Amino acid sequence: NSAVRDRLRIAIQKSGRLSEPARALLASSGLSWRESRDKLFCYGESLPVDLLLVRDDDIPGLIAEGVCDLGIVGRNVLRELINEREESGKPAAFREWRALGFGGCRLSIAVPDVWDWQSPTQLAGKRIATTYPNQLRAWLRTQGVQADIVMLNGSVEIAPRLGQADAICDLVSSGATLAANQLKPVLDILQSEAVLAGPAHPFADARADLADLLLRRMDGVLRIRDSKLLMFQAPREAMNELLQLLPDAEPPTVCAVDGADTLALQALCHGAMTWQRLEDLKRAGARGLMVLPVERMLA
Ligand code: ATP
Ligand code: MG
Repeated sequence: NSAVRDRLRIAIQKSGRLSEPARALLASSGLSWRESRDKLFCYGESLPVDLLLVRDDDIPGLIAEGVCDLGIVGRNVLRELINEREESGKPAAFREWRALGFGGCRLSIAVPDVWDWQSPTQLAGKRIATTYPNQLRAWLRTQGVQADIVMLNGSVEIAPRLGQADAICDLVSSGATLAANQLKPVLDILQSEAVLAGPAHPFADARADLADLLLRRMDGVLRIRDSKLLMFQAPREAMNELLQLLPDAEPPTVCAVDGADTLALQALCHGAMTWQRLEDLKRAGARGLMVLPVERMLA
């Protein structure tokens, strides 16, 4: 599918854990859409960027086939397809363009509570149920462990209770689902989060500029996600100590007020601005502390 295109098409999950945050990220990046009646396609209005609403598992394939240009999908899903293609000697047609900071989870090995876990060698000869056979196979190989992979499409966590498997390899966030099934996570084989996936090669038509614009805006949104603008005044001699308290700040703007004995500072801080931190700053000499939300940023 090498047709020249002047609109960009992004695949996102239709409904599920990633759909709301993905839409919110794109909307914060200045995109707006008109939804089709079947709610599967959203026509971009503010920019020529359309959305296709699909099952998350289909996203890498849609990019590989050129049906979609970009996609927002869990690294776990993307990695699985990359590993599958590697196994069969095919180059991956897509890659991770950006980590997006939401949808965090781990692909973990979990074993029955009652196991006395020591090391992966305990998995030798066991049956491990998973929805991610390619990542599990690759990991077992790096460990030099031979085990049977039992491919399941869902409800992996009940496989040991049903006698289908001895252990599992599944997504974990809080661990509550595992605990409810008398399992415990013992090893993470992948740290996952939602990512922006795109083709392995850059676009050669108008989509290149569009993708570039969108990436820059998304970077701006991601950079300020938890950021705040901090402002205060302080005596000149207190400033060094105050700056020590701001390890998460971008280089601040400092200017003199009141002759030169008092300095006013403003800095973009990336960490949480808790009351505790403000109180520490006040104790170190800061006055008139203010924390302001940051709406947009363009580097
Ligand atoms: P679809 O109908 O689109 O196939 P799904 O059931 O496969 O949906 P979800 O359960 O919505 O998908 O999960 C989507 C993604 O959310 C996962 O692939 C993973 O990257 C991420 N995620 C974050 N936390 C968890 C978790 N605790 N369990 C499963 N997925 C999680
Ligand atoms: Mg799915």
